[in-house]
Amino acid sequence: MENCIFCKILKQEIPCFKIWEDEKHLAFLDVNPVNPGHTLVVPKKHEDYLFDLSDKEYTELMLAAKNVAKILKKRISCKRVGVGVEGFGVSHAHIHLVPINKAKELNPEKAKPMDKEKLKEIQNKLTS
Ligand SMILES: [Zn+2]
Repeated sequence: MENCIFCKILKQEIPCFKIWEDEKHLAFLDVNPVNPGHTLVVPKKHEDYLFDLSDKEYTELMLAAKNVAKILKKRISCKRVGVGVEGFGVSHAHIHLVPINKAKELNPEKAKPMDKEKLKEIQNKLTS
């Protein structure tokens, strides 16, 4: 879909800090993380609203998020990986996975830009 930033990332027109990928999904670091390791999991097929995905697509996306959450939990020091969906920022369905140590940390208002070097460092930690 034109003008969708995630579709542009999927077409490699915009770079991203990729963490994981399979045939139907891509996971990459949020450049405005709530906490270090904050990752977005997106279906490769453009769909605006998460709950407009078919049952199969929805289930596969959730399973993809589970895979990525396991990677985050193993490589980033945190008690849990929090899950968030609101979808007002980018109109391409996506799941936020945020390493957290307490519930209050799962707060989109805490999101702030992270510099590329730090993002690269986290990407290396998650993919090496
Ligand atoms: Zn899109």
